[in-house]
Order: sequence, then C-alpha cells, then structure tokens
Amino acid sequence: MKAQRLLEGKAALVTGSTSGIGLGIARALAGEGANIMLNGFGDAREIERLRSSLAAELEVKVGFSGADISQPGQVREMVAAAARQLDGVDILVNNAGIQHTAPLEEFPDERWDALIAINLSSNFHAVKAALPHMRRRNWGRIINIASTHGLVASVHKAAYVAAKHGVLGLTKAAALETAASGITCNAICPGWVLTPLVQKQIDDRAARERIPAERARTELLAEKQPSGEFATPEQIGALAAFLCSEAAAQIRGAALPVDGGWVAQ
Ligand code: NAD
Repeated sequence: MKAQRLLEGKAALVTGSTSGIGLGIARALAGEGANIMLNGFGDAREIERLRSSLAAELEVKVGFSGADISQPGQVREMVAAAARQLDGVDILVNNAGIQHTAPLEEFPDERWDALIAINLSSNFHAVKAALPHMRRRNWGRIINIASTHGLVASVHKAAYVAAKHGVLGLTKAAALETAASGITCNAICPGWVLTPLVQKQIDDRAARERIPAERARTELLAEKQPSGEFATPEQIGALAAFLCSEAAAQIRGAALPVDGGWVAQ
C-alpha cells in the first residue's frame, strides 16, 4: 500500500499547520507519503503529540518549526530547516493566516501591518526561499491558501481582503516565472471552513447580536455560502494533494474556490 502513495518521499512545508486548514493539508499530504515540516503556534506538548502521532500513523518523517512567519528572517530559517531535515523542499503550502475585522476608519494600523505581514508578505519570503530548492530538482508545488476574499470583498475586512487579493497576484506572478519548469504555483480559495479562526467570528456575532452560537453559525453561512454547509479541512487537504499530483501539472496560476458557491453569485 505504501508504495502506491502519490507523494512518497517528497518534502512538504505547510505553514500554520498546528490547527484548522493547515493541519488538514499536512494530514492529506502525509497520507500520500510526503514528509512534513509543520509550523505554527500552540502548546508545545500538544504540538509534540501531534507531530509524533502523525509520523507514527502515516509512516512519514514529521518535523516542526515554531517560526513566527511575520518575521522574514524566521521564514527563511524555517525553509532552510525544512530543507535540512527533509532533504529538500518540494512542496510549499503557504497557509498560516490571521483575521481582524473593523470598519476602515477604526482599523488599527498595527493590525493592518500584522495582517499584511502574515497573510501576504510571508508568502513572498517563503516562495523566494523555497524556489531554489525546487529549481534544483526541476519539480515543485507551491500552493497558497488565499480565500474567497481574494476574489471578492466583504465589509470590515479591508486588510484581509487586500492581503488575499495580493496572494492571488503573487500566485500568478510565481506561476509565470516557473511556467517553463516542473514547478507549479496555484491558490486555493476557501469559503467558510469551521476552524478556530471562523469560530471566533461566530462567537463575536453571537455576542454582538445577543443570539445563540448555533443561530449565529447558520446566519453566517446563509449570508455568503449558498450550500449552507461549511467546507472542511479534509476537502481542502484533498485538493492540495491533487494539485501536487502529475494530473495537475498543467494547472498553473489558478485560483480554485472551495466555497459552496460563494463566488458564483
Ligand atoms: P486557524 O486559526 O485554525 O489556523 C491558523 C494557523 O496559522 C495556526 O496553526 C496558527 O498557529 C498559525 N499562525 C498564525 N499566525 C502565525 C504566525 N505569525 N506564524 C506562524 N504561524 C502562525 O485558521 P484557519 O481557518 O485554518 O486558516 C488557515 C488559512 O486559511 C488562513 O490563511 C486563512 O486566511 C485561510 N482561510 C480560512 C477560511 C476559513 O473559513 N477558516 C476561509 C478562507 C481562507
């Protein structure tokens, strides 16, 4: 069974993979045999438990970098550590991200800067550092986790919308610069996925409108996502694994929505 796995022995770095969508992607790539470098914040013991259980369950090497990706130097060091520990960087998934909601006039400057650094600039620094490793083998997959907010806007999310539109621009530029090689670069644009990042928005809404969390959750979906259902980290992970396959070798510079119909409206 192990010999049939799609990504056996590939080296994959997934940012923000201690939680939510990133963890779903790390799990999917490891399930196809890729060795993984996890990254993100969280309780050290929990992370170690996660690291060792993934390695044991899926029979791959799993490392961890606690790099704060708002810091370009730490992003470069994380990529170097992945290359050292996993013998290269074949797959880079830029996933880590944060959210802050506020009307433009009240949007804190410091939150804007942090959001642009984490959700956009980190992708640039990681792509820049990972590309030489991919060029060396003339094979690579760069997957940027953008959002429906890379394609359309919503109120009170100026920094997030600007960063995610920027991610799609970076994705296209990287796809063109690698077009004549075995390296592809694409973006996935999730709609609502029930992760801690979205749970916070549900809780905020419930508190603001003084309604039960369950109702806040249904309203959140009804507003944007015609399917009325959340997309799951497993579904995003499966698409990421497909983008890493040879079947996806000519998908380049694409922005692929997984959004229950959000941007079809
Ligand atoms: P999450 O909060 O569950 O996970 C975010 C991850 O990023 C965590 O592992 C966290 O530790 C890590 N992280 C945050 N700041 C970091 C930093 N400075 N350095 C290193 N790691 C850091 O969020 P999620 O919902 O899984 O979101 C993952 C990505 O998907 C984000 O880019 C987000 O914008 C995008 N996205 C999420 C949704 C959704 O509905 N959940 C929809 C569209 C796009």
